[in-house]
Amino acid sequence: MLSTIALHGASIIGGESLAGGGHAFYGVDPATGARLDPEYRCASLGDLNRAAALAEEAFAIYGRLPGREKARFLRAIAAGIEAIVPELVERANRETALPEARLKGESARTINQLRLFAQVVEEGSWVNARIDPAQPGRAPLPRSDIRSMMRPLGPVAVFGASNFPLAFSVAGGDTAAAFAAGNPVIVKAHHAHPGTSEIVGQVIARSAKECELPPGVFALLFGPGSEIGAALVGHPNIKAVGFTGSLAGGKALMDRAAARPEPISCFMEMSSVNPVFVLPEALYTRGEEIARGLFGSFTLGVGQFCTKPGLVFLPRNVSGDIFVAELKAHVEKAGAAAMLTEGIAKSYRSGIAGRKSSVETIAQASSDGAGNCYSAPVVMQIAAGDLLKEPELATEVFGPSTLLIRYENREELMALARSLEGQLTATLHGTDADLAGHADLIAVLERKAGRLIVNGFPTGVEVCHAMVHGGPYPATSDSRATSVGTYSIYRFVRPVCFQDFPRGALPAELKDENPLGIWRLVDGQFTREAVAPQA
Ligand code: NAP
Repeated sequence: MLSTIALHGASIIGGESLAGGGHAFYGVDPATGARLDPEYRCASLGDLNRAAALAEEAFAIYGRLPGREKARFLRAIAAGIEAIVPELVERANRETALPEARLKGESARTINQLRLFAQVVEEGSWVNARIDPAQPGRAPLPRSDIRSMMRPLGPVAVFGASNFPLAFSVAGGDTAAAFAAGNPVIVKAHHAHPGTSEIVGQVIARSAKECELPPGVFALLFGPGSEIGAALVGHPNIKAVGFTGSLAGGKALMDRAAARPEPISCFMEMSSVNPVFVLPEALYTRGEEIARGLFGSFTLGVGQFCTKPGLVFLPRNVSGDIFVAELKAHVEKAGAAAMLTEGIAKSYRSGIAGRKSSVETIAQASSDGAGNCYSAPVVMQIAAGDLLKEPELATEVFGPSTLLIRYENREELMALARSLEGQLTATLHGTDADLAGHADLIAVLERKAGRLIVNGFPTGVEVCHAMVHGGPYPATSDSRATSVGTYSIYRFVRPVCFQDFPRGALPAELKDENPLGIWRLVDGQFTREAVAPQA
């Protein structure tokens, strides 16, 4: 297939590819170690300043556009991506070693989530319009006319994730939510998939032009996180940050944001081990089936999912032993696969090696003879009492491994649950009787995780209105938010109140006649009716 987008190896600022002169780097094929053309040039701090100035300029216009125009932009990006899926998948496959089928699915998810946000902003009720009409005759004091709604924050910095080169990268969930809310976006590209980032970046720039938006509405910057990324977060024009990656990277950027003269909100999705609890009756009646499902889940995408189940709690009994034997058989038959980058593969191997002294290895697939980017599945086991003494053994190992925790009794199970850090997900496998008998465990897990799953697996996150992909620290930096689904739009807005405004000066969403026909909370009642004229 002929490529419709030529790669320039450059950042994109003001709708144009930049002939940057910064430090050079290349994409790498993790499956072969081969260097991929073209050469990429990092952006300079001057380039960043220009992108940030243009973003601020664009915000004055883009931040005030009606929902239908933002929807048009989001749909143009979706259509632009849809038109080039084969070339996008081909480049992403070479840069990440993720299989084509997975990348086709990720393209569809990226396109669909842009269209879902378009629907939300076009319909318009998401702005949470609230109207408390004036009560001039109220005693002892009259009430002013008070109206509020969500307004965008200003330019948002987005850090593309290594493990979702499409759905959590340049036009991924963070970008879609920020655009939908009315904010310009500056993306710091992930160095592991520069070509994929540039292709999508060019689609967004073209879409902005097609929709006659100010060119500063979008910029894509290449460069090291510790330099261009840190400077982006520190720039006074940036008003919020969306990030998916490591705890160390997320924390460094949060610290940078907090140290600004004007600190800003950070929405960092960082580290989660996604505990799975296999309760006794379920273990007895369908333990082997659950073990099979678990193997599929922790090895999916070479274990490179933030929702990978990394801790599995099992009672120490015969059913637990059968479960372990089943899992062992699957791992022993598995092979090695290429991870996203050499650095990620290295950190996986050192994470496993670091655990080995105090943890029993149940089974480890062979990666002999495979390249530096390759890794193989591992299943390990530890006694509950030992994990309670060394809780650091429960930290995330990014890759195809899982740790089984064998507990002796209910007290140990509850102590383990209480000792967990914040998580994106917690999963229970149980019969109705198991679940009814473990209400105390469920209550503890609700305080630990953003999403509780029954009789399923945490990998696979639906993009919909009710999804919560978030959780207490260190899963994310702000447990009140989600980074997947349409509710994620609320990360990039703030409520603004208009008191005693003349009718003509009010935003359309707050006008008496409700010209947009949206749902509003008028005097405490949800309605789509106009505000009744004052007597
Ligand atoms: P990462 O190292 O955190 O990188 C993510 C982004 O943050 C990159 O753009 C990176 O820039 C930037 N960055 C990293 N450290 C920084 C710092 N100190 N200051 C400023 N910016 C910084 O994540 P990764 O490359 O995706 O993978 C590395 C590890 O992250 C994995 O081994 C895994 O443990 C973890 N991970 C977790 C998740 C999750 O969802 N929980 C997802 C992916 C990865 P550069 O371009 O310079 O690297």
